[in-house]
Amino acid sequence: MATTIVALRETVPGERRVALTPEVAKKLRAKGARIVLQDGVGATAYFADGAYADCEVSSAPDALAQADVLLTVQPPSLEQIAALREGAVVIGHLQPHLAPERTKALRDRRITSFAMELLPRTTRAQAMDVLSSQAAVSGYKAVLIAAEAAPKFFPMLTTAAGTIRPSKVLIVGAGVAGLQAIATARRLGAQVEGFDVRPETKEQIESLGAKFLDLGVSAAGSGGYARELTAEEREQQQRALAEQLKAFDVVVTTAAVPGRKAPRIISAAMVAGMKPGAVIVDIAAETGGNVEGTEAGRIVTSANGVTLIGTIHLPSSAPVHASEMYARNLYNFLELSLKDGALTLDWDDELIAKTCLTHAGEIRHEPTKVLVSEA
Ligand code: NAD
Repeated sequence: MATTIVALRETVPGERRVALTPEVAKKLRAKGARIVLQDGVGATAYFADGAYADCEVSSAPDALAQADVLLTVQPPSLEQIAALREGAVVIGHLQPHLAPERTKALRDRRITSFAMELLPRTTRAQAMDVLSSQAAVSGYKAVLIAAEAAPKFFPMLTTAAGTIRPSKVLIVGAGVAGLQAIATARRLGAQVEGFDVRPETKEQIESLGAKFLDLGVSAAGSGGYARELTAEEREQQQRALAEQLKAFDVVVTTAAVPGRKAPRIISAAMVAGMKPGAVIVDIAAETGGNVEGTEAGRIVTSANGVTLIGTIHLPSSAPVHASEMYARNLYNFLELSLKDGALTLDWDDELIAKTCLTHAGEIRHEPTKVLVSEA
């Protein structure tokens, strides 16, 4: 029998993305799946119900009751989990580190859930990597927000009224978001520098036409990620950075360490040493902040006139392209298991096994299992 794939309107305030786009719905139909959507499912991303060809439109409770697979952007609510059939599959951002009661509900309802954040970051997984696709949106938007708030042009201008010097922009953290931020700031004509604690980023930063700011700290961890800095390394980074920051007009911070609070990189004293009118956009504001004094969802001005912007929901601010990339990521993941319209999970495939959060009444992700047992 054809697998029934369901997507609902997202209910988290500010969330404008949709997990299933008309393009991906068509591809899933071609694979033999049946699609049931809540009415208005893509409205916040400008995808009208009529654009989802050959899909059924229903109410949320009716769609949930029929779902073999539920695709989501944000984690499903406890009510939605309770309304799913036992054994149904849920695929989306499940934030397993945040709400143990949600993981418990998925386990107890015997839902097979896949937390896309847990996807191993191997070459084969790149086309399914929601963290990367959404980080690219964040990096791009953060620079536009900074450019809008800055009291200066980004590019150099030669005009009859004289020459305008380009803005100096620093990008802190050169992962997926940071590299996209560097590319965007370069396209706007700024003089861009970037730094990261992973040494391999030097070449990546330079290949985008930016300068690598060497603060003398290297902290490559496992799996291509950064590790947390030691107290000594942190102090060295801060000392070198404090001096450098005085020269920048705009700073965008994107630093993260998986499974931990965002590292605090810029202190209030360092902000106090910056030029009046400088702008800092802190993408990490939602996860603790890279900058002392930024507040998630707010714009704050320091005593010396530095604007601190704590961004939230950045991928939702470009819901069309963010949804398109997200839905394609989910399609590429689902495709591993969808054959002739039927769903067969290959537990020998590490992408399936390692992304699984709950299955058959068990929590399959060890750190979450510990978290839930301690909650
Ligand atoms: P992330 O969001 O975890 O972190 C963002 C950046 O912050 C990282 O580059 C990290 O090194 C940096 N950082 C952490 N602490 C810092 C500090 N104290 N000071 C300065 N910078 C600091 O990272 P990400 O963007 O998700 O990607 C991390 C790595 O994973 C990269 O090597 C990327 O190329 C790799 N990756 C691989 C795949 C894949 O092959 N499927 C997909 C995406 C990313």
